[in-house]
Amino acid sequence: MPLFEYKCKKCGQKVEFLERGSGSSRHVCPHCGGKDLQKLFSTFAAGRSDSSSDSGSSCPTGTCPLG
Ligand SMILES: [Zn+2]
Repeated sequence: MPLFEYKCKKCGQKVEFLERGSGSSRHVCPHCGGKDLQKLFSTFAAGRSDSSSDSGSSCPTGTCPLG
């Protein structure tokens, strides 16, 4: 199940919600009950491209065999 992270605009707490099926479900902050939640981008899904940049690669030349 996809896990989405939200940030409550009212109390500033980070809240994680599991979303399944339709994405039109309303979420409510469990901390303050606020309904104004800002969706945050997942770290594993953001900036995913074929070229690896400054991510601490162990191959300085870029021609090293993988594995
Ligand atoms: Zn809140």
